[in-house]
Amino acid sequence: MFKALILIDNDSVEYSLNLIELIHRLAGDEVAYVYGLGINLSGEVKGLDAMIRVNIPMNQQKDSRIFTDIIEQVHKKYQFDSIIILATDFGRMIAPRLAMRLEVGLVADITDVEVDKRGRKLIRPAFSGNIMAKIVCESSPIMASVHPNVFHADELTSEPEIINFIPTELKASTIEVLDILENEQDTIDIREADVLVSAGGGFTKPIDELKVLAEKLNGIVAVSKRLVDCKKAPREIQVGQSGKTVSPSLYIALGIYGSTQHIEGLKNVKEIISVNTDLGAPMNYLANLVVHGDATIFAEKLRARLQE
Ligand SMILES: Cc1cc2nc3c(=O)[nH]c(=O)nc-3n(C[C@H](O)[C@H](O)[C@H](O)COP(=O)(O)OP(=O)(O)OC[C@H]3O[C@@H](n4cnc5c(N)ncnc54)[C@H](O)[C@@H]3O)c2cc1C
Repeated sequence: MFKALILIDNDSVEYSLNLIELIHRLAGDEVAYVYGLGINLSGEVKGLDAMIRVNIPMNQQKDSRIFTDIIEQVHKKYQFDSIIILATDFGRMIAPRLAMRLEVGLVADITDVEVDKRGRKLIRPAFSGNIMAKIVCESSPIMASVHPNVFHADELTSEPEIINFIPTELKASTIEVLDILENEQDTIDIREADVLVSAGGGFTKPIDELKVLAEKLNGIVAVSKRLVDCKKAPREIQVGQSGKTVSPSLYIALGIYGSTQHIEGLKNVKEIISVNTDLGAPMNYLANLVVHGDATIFAEKLRARLQE
């Protein structure tokens, strides 16, 4: 049996549960038994084989050192073959600490896995995204972090066995929680969008001008890293390896070259329309429809046509 643990991120429960699919693939011919670890997690979760619940004071919950202590204690008890952590801000703080503590390697931001006679391989971009490296893991537990939305699990219906775990001898936290501010953004997350109107270096107007077009298509605006780097857009809406992985039905790429790092963020996209002045841009080879021309003019004309 291949025993694996998913750390359930309280702010990204659905994305955390999608990692069940990754574990089943990583198990290969072995039967996977998937545990979830929820710290102060309210509500039910489905699809796991077992759910380990831990309740601690709020200030301890915000303390990555205490979180690491708890996972280490849980691992000592259950001896997992693999521990998978979602690469959210909090997950990124926990994963390297835990790997250090367990004295194993950590493969960050994996995008795929492969299992064959040579063992279990974790796949991730390397050399600035120019190659996909297959990393054979010989230490146990196999530890990896994964961007949200890279894997999708179907039919998360089974009820897990509930295990209430009481950690011992936790240190007092030096963190004091003064206030918790809700995210004030009223836009939906680009990972949830069904249509994305995405601007790159070839789109010359301010991206706010794309909002009406996006709304007409029932979608929202996204960007490539080029626009984030030149401060024309916030990082929350960046698609790609160092941004978010998206899976809309329609992705309109306005003046986006199609670097490997950008394409890395396009997972399960159904249709791509690429608007580019360069017919040889790699994005055009991925696209279902290529418009050879100016991206800003195209966006403006399409908006006007849809508003008519
Ligand atoms: C470690 C690492 C991580 C990275 N992560 C990401 C990531 O998460 N996301 C990401 O996007 N990038 C990422 N990058 C950067 C990436 O390598 C590219 O630099 C970036 O994607 C380029 O963005 P772009 O295609 O919009 O711009 P450009 O490279 O400037 O391309 C502009 C495109 O627009 C076309 N164009 C020019 N003028 C017009 C016009 N008037 N009308 C229509 N088309 C026109 C050009 O032909 C070209 O194809 C990363 C890089 C590294 C090293």
